[in-house]
Amino acid sequence: MTRMKEALLYEKLEGGRVRCNVCRHRCAIGPGKRGYCQTRLNSGGTLYTLIYGRVSSLNADPVEKKPLFHFYPGSRCLSLGAVGCNFRCPGCQNWEISRARAEESGAGTDEIKPEELISLAAEYKCQGIAWTYNEPSIWLEYVLDGAKLAKAKGLYTACVTNGFMTPEWLEVMGPYLDAFRVDIKGFSEETYQKISGVRALAGVLDSARLAQQKHGMHVECVTNVTPGINDDDNELLALAKWIVSELGPDTPWHVTGFYPHLDLSGLPPTPLAKLERVRQAGLDVGLRYVYLGNVPAHPSENTYCHKCGELLIRREGFSITGLHLKNAACPRCKTPLPCLMQPAPCLPRP
Ligand code: SF4
Repeated sequence: MTRMKEALLYEKLEGGRVRCNVCRHRCAIGPGKRGYCQTRLNSGGTLYTLIYGRVSSLNADPVEKKPLFHFYPGSRCLSLGAVGCNFRCPGCQNWEISRARAEESGAGTDEIKPEELISLAAEYKCQGIAWTYNEPSIWLEYVLDGAKLAKAKGLYTACVTNGFMTPEWLEVMGPYLDAFRVDIKGFSEETYQKISGVRALAGVLDSARLAQQKHGMHVECVTNVTPGINDDDNELLALAKWIVSELGPDTPWHVTGFYPHLDLSGLPPTPLAKLERVRQAGLDVGLRYVYLGNVPAHPSENTYCHKCGELLIRREGFSITGLHLKNAACPRCKTPLPCLMQPAPCLPRP
């Protein structure tokens, strides 16, 4: 496989420059230069991706690990990532790959052709493929080829994303992408600048809305609550209200605890009481499914009927330990659970 592949979604500008329209940075890239993500190179007035088929990380993960809780619970997805990112989060958990420089030689990554993903998914007994670990939107050309093959073979497809891609990206990927697990890291541009290095809020909200309403993807949101950075109660409340009004009350919201890391290693972990308050605030404004994450064995990892409170799905970490639905609904009050289910029972997973 060639190390460099001509990019999608770019336009030629004067003086040998090009504009990349993959994410909302819309970098204007001079000859011999790379975009902000460091994975796209202007060579002679043509834009190339340096990460096509270059895989830094590959695992067979429970879908709950993404986290996706209302999307084929108990299934397993082939999960893969490349290198690079279009954000600069000071507390990035995957900095070894997100901050790694894409090499023209492909060094530091393994070469996996899109068609090999299908056989790997079968080998590892996966029902779908998830592009994750680093930001998949900057991997467009490869994700697109893999997703087309996956859909043709009946596999589901999911992206775990920061949501900063352009509407054009969503147009290209929309027909082949089933799930959009998006971080919403705060609810002001100032907070976004602090938590991700980019004033991305408006773009992220627009992407989440488009993914769900224009392209019909299943959307789940995650907010990692970081002390002193994005933990303002009013802002989190506004974020929860936005999800209710724009994406709907059935949209799962995962409120996860921060763990000190990288440039933010001097901060404390998020207090459990804070996470519980945020969850309750989300429920109070009308969200029906608010989950806590990074809090092992907490009851809010489970899914409860929003109407009568019956336990519907019990989780321990990333495992499903009880599935109590009857005909995809609450066995007590018969309220349906908005959740894509396996065509055949696949639980419990060994
Ligand atoms: S993907 Fe985004 S950051 Fe990377 S070159 Fe394109 S516009 Fe710039």
